[in-house]
Amino acid sequence: MFDTLSDKLNSVFKQLKGHGKLSEKNIADGLREVRMALLEADVHYQVVKKLVADIKARALGQEVMGSLTPGQQVVKIVNESLTQLMGETHEELNLAGEKPVAVMLVGLQGSGKTTTAGKLSVMLRKTGKQPYLVPADVYRPAAIDQLKKLGTQLDVPVFDSTPDMDPVKICQEARVAAQKAGCDTLLLDTAGRLHIDDALMEELSRIRTTVRPTDILLVADAMTGQDAVNIAKTFDERLDIGGVVLTKMDGDARGGAALSIRSITGKPIKFIGVGEKLSELEAFHPDRMASRILGMGDVLTIIEKAQEVVDEKKAIELEKKLRKNQFTLEDFRDQMRQIRKMGSLTDILGMIPGMGKIKQMKNLQVDEKELVHIEAIINSMTPRERRQYSIINGSRRKRIAAGSGTRVQDVNRLLKNYAQVMKMMKKINKSGMRGLGRGMLP
Ligand code: GDP
Repeated sequence: MFDTLSDKLNSVFKQLKGHGKLSEKNIADGLREVRMALLEADVHYQVVKKLVADIKARALGQEVMGSLTPGQQVVKIVNESLTQLMGETHEELNLAGEKPVAVMLVGLQGSGKTTTAGKLSVMLRKTGKQPYLVPADVYRPAAIDQLKKLGTQLDVPVFDSTPDMDPVKICQEARVAAQKAGCDTLLLDTAGRLHIDDALMEELSRIRTTVRPTDILLVADAMTGQDAVNIAKTFDERLDIGGVVLTKMDGDARGGAALSIRSITGKPIKFIGVGEKLSELEAFHPDRMASRILGMGDVLTIIEKAQEVVDEKKAIELEKKLRKNQFTLEDFRDQMRQIRKMGSLTDILGMIPGMGKIKQMKNLQVDEKELVHIEAIINSMTPRERRQYSIINGSRRKRIAAGSGTRVQDVNRLLKNYAQVMKMMKKINKSGMRGLGRGMLP
């Protein structure tokens, strides 16, 4: 996400950092490069103009702060300008209204509407809502099946639409059905076309006036850059959308759409799709996004992800085990599974401050396969071996390697790492206990 833009901006900052004091000329040169970087990232030219003017005004009017070098100061200013450009704070879904409320998803075909409907239902359920999926695209019969399948997979109820029904009627009947089923939030997956056309807009307007959704989200593909911005503008003019979901951000190295939409349409990006999996939807936080673009990391999102996947009870249990030196290879595997649930390791690395640049160094690429190997190795052990690793002798190692499709060296390495962790824990526990003991003495 944003890799190209981040690279470019960072090289500009690096040049600026070389100067002890910034002159007007340094700033002007730097800004020219920032402007180029933004244009190359496919940011709308009007937005670039506005942003550069804003950065310039702030940079020139800025008092010199003792704690920051001039270079750092520029990064800070760009960070603030980017944040403001994208809308400052995260805007939530609007669900205020008489239950059940409806959220309408609109957008072109292939933008990721159906997938996003599934992702949103997962997200809503986590906050205690009862979502209800409504397939309202009757022109592409596969669309109805796709949503029904998603519903079954997620165990979320889906309205039983058929291709011969009128989309407006589907939405009306679905509301009654949702209420009967005890659901409070309808997600309307409407029809998409390859291009914007009048008939489609008519139909969407009819749904809007009859169903009165509390929020209308335009789903747009980030990889289409400025097309996504124009689509958002047109849909907004016709339907007065509430916000945008920008999908496929995982494949978008430039970030032009993400940076332009708010400024051009005045409507916020509410969520971003960061992968094909149904858990890969994130709330869009302008401040965090600006930090990510500037390679300053996004620690808050990592913490939230960790909170989502970490089971509190398990964590306490695990801590007890660690204290008693009972942390087995099975626990090790469980830990790894939890980390993997947080998403791709490369993405997580990108959110750690300062890691953005390091991540790009070829020899530091995180090998996701390695984790799969480790899990396979542990899976190939017998339960006793997992609890008591000291019994794993040479012939057992050979068997485990063959069973997991890895090499004996891989098994050796894993056991060595594990043994090291155990040794370290023992040390910590010992000195920790001693410390505790001393504290308890009168
Ligand atoms: P619709 O025609 O608008 O309903 O689009 P779909 O939901 O069928 O999505 C089209 C394609 O985009 C599918 O292959 C999805 O898996 C993929 N897709 C959707 N959202 C994302 C995303 O955030 N990241 C990636 N990489 N793919 C996505």
